[in-house]
Amino acid sequence: MTTKFIHRDNCRLCSSKNLELVVKLAPAPLAEKYTLPGEPDDCESFPLDLWMCRDCGHVQLLDVIDSERLWDDYTYHSGQTKGIVEHFQEVADKVVATHQPAPGSLVIDVGSNDGSLLRPFKAKGYKVLGIDPAREIARKATESGIETLPELMTATLAEAICKKYGPASVITAFNVFAHADDMNGMAESVRIMLGPDGVFFFEAQYLVDIVDKMLLGTIFHEHMSHHSLKPMKAFLARHGMELIDVERNSIQKGSIIGTAQLIGGPRKVQPAVGELLALEERMKLDQIDTIKQFTTRLERNKQQLAKWTAEWKSQGASIAAFGAARSGPTFIAQFGIGDCISYIFDDHPQKVNKLSPGHRIPVVPSSELEKRMPDYTFILAWIHAKKIVASNRGYLEKGGKFVIFCPDVQVIDANYTGPIL
Ligand SMILES: [Zn+2]
Repeated sequence: MTTKFIHRDNCRLCSSKNLELVVKLAPAPLAEKYTLPGEPDDCESFPLDLWMCRDCGHVQLLDVIDSERLWDDYTYHSGQTKGIVEHFQEVADKVVATHQPAPGSLVIDVGSNDGSLLRPFKAKGYKVLGIDPAREIARKATESGIETLPELMTATLAEAICKKYGPASVITAFNVFAHADDMNGMAESVRIMLGPDGVFFFEAQYLVDIVDKMLLGTIFHEHMSHHSLKPMKAFLARHGMELIDVERNSIQKGSIIGTAQLIGGPRKVQPAVGELLALEERMKLDQIDTIKQFTTRLERNKQQLAKWTAEWKSQGASIAAFGAARSGPTFIAQFGIGDCISYIFDDHPQKVNKLSPGHRIPVVPSSELEKRMPDYTFILAWIHAKKIVASNRGYLEKGGKFVIFCPDVQVIDANYTGPIL
């Protein structure tokens, strides 16, 4: 199947055509396309370049994969990640305690995945509605008691929802603010569905952390935007909304949760908004050269790893990888390591015993790690690096070594005591 993609010629937030290429990356295959042996793999790679809008400062991918292809068999389930479930429980507790939405009122989650965020709201007696274009996940969520519309969020859908269910007291869009190509449609939909004293929460990976900690693993085709506050604040204002609060958290090693209301709503703007805007200003985050430093650092890391892998291969060392994660194809493509990885250890039921996209590397259960004992194991699931190292001490004790990619390329052996992101 040929996958369609388009190259946008304007900024996703402000529509300006004044765009500059700031991080040139190697094209990579779609992260979720694992196939069975014998099944065709089109092996197509797509651009992953980051562009910056010179007018509003928004950093984004401009190459947009056909959404049917990108989302239809998406396998990521929030509920499978324990940390996320706890995080969502905390979010629900905090939203209710801070903003006191009317008992029994409507809570909508845009990009609701398996309903993990809505579940704690439902338990508190709120009406809940999920919206998610991944059809299979939406179907399962509905079956499990969280009504989920298998649709892309559009203004037309928002009007229909409003008519059928009434205005929402809370709307959440966690992660979807990085996943949406049509951000204007998304914001317009939220504005349509939000009640006059409603609150809108969005979570997104934060550009400050991406640049600061060199979070290369967060750059893949589903993450179309890498948000910062300055462009976001102006964007929301253009859609009749006011950013009233923001907090940083450690989800995906660096995210923000922003809170907004309709302009003229009852809540005061919290000092955190001004504080983070000032931080972005100090970092010169809206300047091209700041983002271009990412490329300089990546080049340095690439050279380091290329030197090491050449040495390891000349010594006849075996190399594997850990974690069939969404970030896998990004790391494999950027570091050019696809040909030297013999297998990927992972236990995901939809990936184990399948082949990775592009290089068709076999995925084997993680229980095989100590049996196969590769000399070096690249950690592709970078978010879980700490946990992977901690739970595989046996592999290290026997002489195996893990390799991490960010913020710097590092070899971790049994004696390693340094930090792991
Ligand atoms: Zn812009």
